[in-house]
Amino acid sequence: MDNQYDLIIVGAGPSGLWAAEKAASAKLKVLVLDRKQEIGPPKRCAEGLGLGWFKRLGLKPNKEWAVQPIYGATLIAPSGKSIQMRTKKVAGYVLERKVFEKHLAIAAAKKGAKIIVKANVENCERKNGIVEVTVNEYTEIKKYTAPLIMAADGVDSRVARMLGKNTANKPYDMDSGFQYEMTNLNTKHYEEKDLNMYFGTEISPRGYLWIFPKRKATANVGIGISAMQEKTAKHYLDKFIEANPKIFENASIIEVNAGAIPVGGFLEDLTSDNLLVVGDAGHMTDPIHGGGIGIAMEGGAIAVETAIKAHKAKNYSHEFLQQFTKEWFERRGNQLKKRLKARLLLEKLSDADFNYLAESLTVEDCLKIAGGEMNGKEKIMLFGKKLMQRPGLIAILSKYL
Ligand SMILES: Cc1cc2nc3c(=O)[nH]c(=O)nc-3n(C[C@H](O)[C@H](O)[C@H](O)COP(=O)(O)OP(=O)(O)OC[C@H]3O[C@@H](n4cnc5c(N)ncnc54)[C@H](O)[C@@H]3O)c2cc1C
Repeated sequence: MDNQYDLIIVGAGPSGLWAAEKAASAKLKVLVLDRKQEIGPPKRCAEGLGLGWFKRLGLKPNKEWAVQPIYGATLIAPSGKSIQMRTKKVAGYVLERKVFEKHLAIAAAKKGAKIIVKANVENCERKNGIVEVTVNEYTEIKKYTAPLIMAADGVDSRVARMLGKNTANKPYDMDSGFQYEMTNLNTKHYEEKDLNMYFGTEISPRGYLWIFPKRKATANVGIGISAMQEKTAKHYLDKFIEANPKIFENASIIEVNAGAIPVGGFLEDLTSDNLLVVGDAGHMTDPIHGGGIGIAMEGGAIAVETAIKAHKAKNYSHEFLQQFTKEWFERRGNQLKKRLKARLLLEKLSDADFNYLAESLTVEDCLKIAGGEMNGKEKIMLFGKKLMQRPGLIAILSKYL
């Protein structure tokens, strides 16, 4: 009996842990399995989370894990010219994700979810309407069963595939991320209150390079580039560090992180019999900046709404579970699809276009963008209008706007 659950969640990242808390709160018997020996590390993340996500998810920033308040963004064009979009109020936080995830785990366990670490899911098999999960737990093979499995196992998800659902992403829709957490940076040469983002085809092809401040003189310094590039993300990051001694001359690396980021290629169906797929495993990330913490958590919570209905109806069929896909696209996925279009536009811009944009945006424009007066569409329109004035770009822009 102890090995039987209502819901088994594979993966104790933000999506799985948030879903576990919601499901356990609704009195589902929940098991969370993670192959890591500790919830949290190693992080594969720059740890930025916008204030909007705190509000949407009902999260209260806690100094233990919301370690650095952020007031805006500084975007740096290939020419070095920067555009600062800053507000007087806190616009988000850089997290200490290792601690954040432990907090999520504690909250889920408090509601009654059972969490097991060092538990690698090796197989999932349907048997008479129930799924049998084979787990290598501290080198011992154990079996657990549930009528419903949530694949929250991240970007290199295998769990959905174990149940016959192919969730693989095309290389074109993947970014390759690489990051150093660095300390003893020279704070005079980057904005300590902003997310610093560097653009340009030489600096970061089809992506951006970031300095996300974490503590005094300490930051996540990383890069996300198209996974189809010949040279590695590490190559571009090291080149940038070498080219900017003013910032990095006396710095030390205190952590190395690497990971893939799905940036498009949404899964049109997030379910099959006995299966819900969430978070990075379900390609739930923002195609423009690759952020996925908030989206993964929201996706996990939406999936739980369907899990609760399935539990009540004792119906775990693909047909029944499909309401999750519908809900997710209505509440988030369709908006992300529009953002994918904007990303495809950004991909077409040359370094000269980025430089032009940085030159042509006025301080007033930046204040409007940062001040919360504009919604996402209005911001894109503003950028679009500026670029429209640039010969050669009109054809590309009219296609996307
Ligand atoms: C370099 C980089 C920078 C990023 N920066 C940001 C950022 O600043 N802000 C932001 O919002 N997002 C960022 N992201 C994206 C963000 O990290 C992900 O979207 C987020 O972690 C997705 O959460 P998740 O719960 O879906 O998956 P994950 O956090 O990947 O968790 C999946 C879990 O599943 C476990 N697992 C996998 N397979 C098995 C198995 N077979 N058995 C048991 N356990 C298993 C793993 O151990 C892991 O703990 C970044 C990503 C990268 C790579």
